[in-house]
Amino acid sequence: MAENNKPEASHFICHIINDDLKNGKNDGRLHTRFPPEPNGYLHVGHAKSICLNFGLAEKYEQGLCNLRFDDTNPEKEDIEYADAIANDVRWLGFDWQDREFFASDYYDKLYEFAVQLIKDGKAYVDHLNAEQTREYRGTLTEPGKDSPYRFRSVEENLDLFERMKRGEFAEGECVLRAKIDMAAPNMNMRDPTIYRIRKVSHYRTADKWCIYPMYDFAHCISDALEGVTHSLCTLEFEDHRVLYDWYLDQLDLPCHPQQIEFARLNLAYTVTSKRKLNELVKNGDVSGWDDPRMPTIIGMRRRGYTPEAIRDFCDRIGITKSDTLIDMGVLENCVREDLDKTTKRVLGVLNPLKVVIENYPEGKVEQLDAPYHPNNPDMGSRELPFAREIYIEQDDFMEDPPKKFFRLGPGREVRLRYAYFITCNEVIKNDDGEVIELHCSYDPETKGGNAPDGRKVKGTIHWVSCEHALQTEVRLFDRLFTEPTPDSNKHEKEWREFLNPESKVVISNVMLEPSLMSAEKETRFQFERTAYFCVDNKDSFDGKPIFNRTVTLRDSWAKLQAR
Ligand code: ATP
Ligand code: MG
Repeated sequence: MAENNKPEASHFICHIINDDLKNGKNDGRLHTRFPPEPNGYLHVGHAKSICLNFGLAEKYEQGLCNLRFDDTNPEKEDIEYADAIANDVRWLGFDWQDREFFASDYYDKLYEFAVQLIKDGKAYVDHLNAEQTREYRGTLTEPGKDSPYRFRSVEENLDLFERMKRGEFAEGECVLRAKIDMAAPNMNMRDPTIYRIRKVSHYRTADKWCIYPMYDFAHCISDALEGVTHSLCTLEFEDHRVLYDWYLDQLDLPCHPQQIEFARLNLAYTVTSKRKLNELVKNGDVSGWDDPRMPTIIGMRRRGYTPEAIRDFCDRIGITKSDTLIDMGVLENCVREDLDKTTKRVLGVLNPLKVVIENYPEGKVEQLDAPYHPNNPDMGSRELPFAREIYIEQDDFMEDPPKKFFRLGPGREVRLRYAYFITCNEVIKNDDGEVIELHCSYDPETKGGNAPDGRKVKGTIHWVSCEHALQTEVRLFDRLFTEPTPDSNKHEKEWREFLNPESKVVISNVMLEPSLMSAEKETRFQFERTAYFCVDNKDSFDGKPIFNRTVTLRDSWAKLQAR
């Protein structure tokens, strides 16, 4: 939005709204809604819809956006999900103030609207069974047939519907249907179901109802009751728009919202369907909805993604009418850009190799002043203890280094970040020939990282004092799937076979600088030269933060693919 000096989002929906406002439509109002079904946790696709709906309300001065729970399927819905959804929307940075609604709050009204349709001869109770209903519906190329129950009298229909409500019929015995056109080319118009019988408790209305309205019926009426002006949904609802309009045209409602469809977000190497995400959770493929590998909002949060980065991502991918597959790298770049500005730099060694600095006095500890951010003095600095024994990264040493390896090798000199130059004098190995320790010497004249004689070293490596190190665990996360489109039609059934077995790697003996001992949950850091990390919000405890790798410093996937 304008306040961040970003270009004003402008897409085809903005153009429609601009025209509507110019023409005085809806009395100059703009009212959108985000309508999740509380049957799972929100994912990155929902973030796109949230940013669109709430974003428009922010962009236009008169704009309002409702949070509405579209809860018309009692079997799958739960208050746990509704609460989590509200939390996620708030965490993303949006506020619906007092405009929180539930479709289930409209059940009485929806029932009355259905009765009105019956009275107007536009709805009937149908007793065809499921198989017959399928048969009568026809196909895309053949018209359907009228149900023999289609011509029941208004009185009979009113009576039967009332008895449906009272629970006199079994599930599946009958439904209420709209009387539209069994020969309509659009299948959604072939007498769609309005109410079906479900003898199950609803998480909000308990056992008050045993008939529940269908989505298409409840959704448009809920929009209209709330004064929504633009009802934005994904492209799969395009074929439902005529029905949306049909219901609203038949009934007496305060307004007639305009349904506008946009392309859903498809993100490569993951799945964005609540049903499939639920399956991953149920199968134990991930540790829960908040597993940091999940594309859910709570998963991304736990991994260390920021709301700002996710909103920036939604801005960048834009709103269009055509389906595309967005590369995960686009999202990761937004995360990197945000974290680069906002995180403190710290030192952490993931695969420790011990270094003894032989000419450094035993027992001496120097507290080195190290700034938290190279370009942002406001972030302050911390003291970094330096002592005779330190850890460096195993990868930063090679016994027989090639020419271009500017880190440590026998006889070579490198700079220790914020500290001194050291030279490797001796390599200690175990019986298996593995390098277990390096003996080095330091140049006391190079404190702070420069030699007074002007001699240069090419490499700077990170390190942590052995005695002071915080030993803890990090978790390295990678793409959840090895396939860009694991759930494409091509492999609809076997999509779980494409799970990436290396999507989570735990390293349990990392050595981090001691300032991190007090790092609080959900704080993010850049471990210099390594990656961005975030303190896990579940498994960490006081004095022992556990770190999740949020994102690498560079896009190594793009490089791999280029090769
Ligand atoms: P799922 O397929 O994951 O179950 P859904 O569409 O059934 O998603 P809802 O809770 O009904 O989930 O969605 C709430 C809103 O979010 C709807 O307006 C829907 O169109 C939108 N939405 C869902 N998935 C995406 C997506 N991938 N991209 C953009 N918007 C989405
Ligand atoms: Mg849905």
